[in-house]
Amino acid sequence: MERVIFHVDMNAFFAAVEQRARPGLRGKPIIVCGNPEKRTVVAACSYEAKAYGIKNGMSIVEARQLCPHIIPVAGDPEKYVDISHRLFALMRHFTPAVEIFSIDEAFLDMSGAWPGFGPEPEAAARALKRRIREEVFDLTCSIGIGPNKLIAKLASGLRKPDGLVRVRAAEVPALLEDLPVEELCGIGPHLKVYLNEMTIATCGELGRAPEAALVRRFGVIGRALKRMGQGLDESPVTPMGQEPEAKSMGHAYTLPRDTEDIGELRGTLLRLCEQVARRLRADRACGRTVGLTVRYRDFTTLLRHTTLQDPTDAGLLIYDAALRLFARHCEPLPQRVRLLGVGVSELARGERQLLCLEAARRVERMDRCLDAVNDRFGDFTLVRAAALAPLVPKSHGFLVKNGRSPRGLVLR
Ligand SMILES: [Mg+2]
Repeated sequence: MERVIFHVDMNAFFAAVEQRARPGLRGKPIIVCGNPEKRTVVAACSYEAKAYGIKNGMSIVEARQLCPHIIPVAGDPEKYVDISHRLFALMRHFTPAVEIFSIDEAFLDMSGAWPGFGPEPEAAARALKRRIREEVFDLTCSIGIGPNKLIAKLASGLRKPDGLVRVRAAEVPALLEDLPVEELCGIGPHLKVYLNEMTIATCGELGRAPEAALVRRFGVIGRALKRMGQGLDESPVTPMGQEPEAKSMGHAYTLPRDTEDIGELRGTLLRLCEQVARRLRADRACGRTVGLTVRYRDFTTLLRHTTLQDPTDAGLLIYDAALRLFARHCEPLPQRVRLLGVGVSELARGERQLLCLEAARRVERMDRCLDAVNDRFGDFTLVRAAALAPLVPKSHGFLVKNGRSPRGLVLR
């Protein structure tokens, strides 16, 4: 049975919300940004602004050059998060299988649910669009319908705003044949360049490329890339809170630009280790194996593991292991680094390790304080100083960040 997956993408979400809330802004070119008095970038723009060539991520100065009468509006993240929650709650009336993909995007597994709405899945999509318009601020969205998440996401992007596009499994090969690889969700500008170097420019070519060559070039993701080129994607729609119990936990971070600054890399590693440790503690898990992922500028990827004497959920102990792996396998750096990842596996749950050393107990107490402050005030309110400054950590001092944290908001 062919699955029926919806990808729902709100149109110009932040800008549309502001235009609904303030009728004076309707039909006008507006950009939503941080404090318009300060140096800030475009977080969202209305379709009227897009018509001038304004894009997300541009500076206000650039936007003004394209459209001198552009209206900058200070964003209100709390309002967007609130409306986003209302949208996802509404989607759950259609199916319990709603996977939140970003603040204004979700995947819905409608396989069992769509027949309740009409003879074709499009009927369910039209009903959802109507209810969103009627019940949430008159907002519009684009819905893509496909046999999997990859194709549904592609389909929602084909018609904006207020689009509804269905791509059946039988239509996938023709759709992908001449489609540039970078149109697929997950293939960014760098990956595109490296694929192009292998004379792979279209999804059709990617799908026909020899798997061995892709794996040689990109490691484990090579296999996934070939399947993406064929439009295949078995990944389930996973509602929040129903993710399978993790066998490992990890975080990865693509650096803002490729770097060979050892201080910056170590600071990033420390931050990743703190994040992983915090998730372990939230899940009452301890892990014994620490894994380090380093992806270099040319996408060569190095994966190394080490096993600790005892399972741990302490950020500093994980960092210590990750740093040793990094020093042993990556220094001196052969080239600039593009991504770092830290993972902990061999998890044990419910059995807190016996911390017998006084030093380890101190580390543990410090971590509890960190969690308490960050749970209350938001991620990264309190972080180790070394995780902020591109310095080799000499002490484990803390810095308190000024102002509010951007908790819970994904800007894309
Ligand atoms: Mg959107």
